[in-house]
Amino acid sequence: MFECIECTKPEHKNLRAFYQPKEKKITFCLQRLQEEDICTMMRHELVHYFDHFQGYTFGSAKELACSEIKAAKIGECKDEVFRKKCTRLVAQNNIKDRYPIRYKWIVNKVFKKCYSFFD
Ligand SMILES: [Zn+2]
Repeated sequence: MFECIECTKPEHKNLRAFYQPKEKKITFCLQRLQEEDICTMMRHELVHYFDHFQGYTFGSAKELACSEIKAAKIGECKDEVFRKKCTRLVAQNNIKDRYPIRYKWIVNKVFKKCYSFFD
């Protein structure tokens, strides 16, 4: 379920943590995490884990963006004043590598619905 490793693969070059649906595994990249980040990243990745068990496959851009929006809101973006803006930026940033041209459009398209999911 969890592993803590030095992340060396090129596809993980900007990640502090990530979820692998096939293996149902959350990986923490030790060389990029401070101790205080662990809980934040844990909350973030557990949302992906939750989504996976709700039937998400992360195969479509909108599904991935939706999960990133929910994970950013629960994980990184705790400040009430900037929460919405923070959530949008983190979600965009987290799908940018996979969708370099459309990442903003994709997040904006599903933002309202996915942002309010846990309300
Ligand atoms: Zn994520």
